[in-house]
Amino acid sequence: MLAFYADHFVLPLPEGHRFPMRKYSMLRTAVERDVPGLSLVEAPRAGDDALLLAHTPEYVASVSRGELDPSRQREIGFPWSDAMVERSRRSAGATIEACRIALREGISVNLAGGTHHAYADKGGGFCVFNDAAVAARQLRRDGRVERVAVVDLDVHQGNGTASILRDDPFVFTLSLHGEKNYPFRKEASDLDVGLPDGCDDDAYAQALQGALDMLFARFSPDLIIYLAGADPHEGDRLGRLKLTLAGLARRDCLVFDAALARGLPIAVAMAGGYGNQIENTVAVHAQTIALAAQYHERYARRDTGAAAGAILPAGDTEAAQQ
Ligand SMILES: [Zn+2]
Repeated sequence: MLAFYADHFVLPLPEGHRFPMRKYSMLRTAVERDVPGLSLVEAPRAGDDALLLAHTPEYVASVSRGELDPSRQREIGFPWSDAMVERSRRSAGATIEACRIALREGISVNLAGGTHHAYADKGGGFCVFNDAAVAARQLRRDGRVERVAVVDLDVHQGNGTASILRDDPFVFTLSLHGEKNYPFRKEASDLDVGLPDGCDDDAYAQALQGALDMLFARFSPDLIIYLAGADPHEGDRLGRLKLTLAGLARRDCLVFDAALARGLPIAVAMAGGYGNQIENTVAVHAQTIALAAQYHERYARRDTGAAAGAILPAGDTEAAQQ
């Protein structure tokens, strides 16, 4: 399975900054060691042409030149630097590329991304560019897919994604999030499920299954972009939910099973994770990647869990006809 990384573009942060930047390199080290069959590839850079599919020209130019209003820069939560721009472009490029690879291989992973608080004209909550919105639009422009579903299971609502894609009939946005958590003014996704504080594994799985059923009843995507946030974990200092590591494995499997049963390619992005112990956050993300690698094998074997030969990965029509 191919996985894209950008953690070597180190974003300089002041001493004591609360963003756990270290988790990305720790994650790459962990999956390199623990996930067999993984090929790690440097994330390509998203150019202006791609970013402009989801962002305004003014915003892309201001970010690139370091000319954002100080208040806008503060909303992002990172100080401006060339590295911030480069890293953000790489992160969006990685999700685009993970989508393209998923069309060929069934599944692929961005070891960063999921920056769902970025709007068309502003960033926020550690998000500069909205990789999922950019990738959904870019894949449509490639002419490879008609409809894309964004399944956002970060604990925070995907407000930027919802806002950018609100009037886009070709992209369905699902956000399952903590109702009382940031952002406090939520946007309307195509489907929002707000969870109460303290939500546990069983309640979460039930809510997710219901949401996935509703998504597929209302929409027929050709591709899924999955934001696998680690912040619903019980050890997260911002999450407010009570999912265990096992509960998060169940979450990932529900999404992967739903995709596999329909022969849908799926690109995975990491999104947030702010563990009291950074090791817990890395463990949640690494588990997602290990499960994704297992699903990659199943796609390759055409093991969909459905009737034999009934459903095959998209983008492989030649094999499908054999
Ligand atoms: Zn989050």
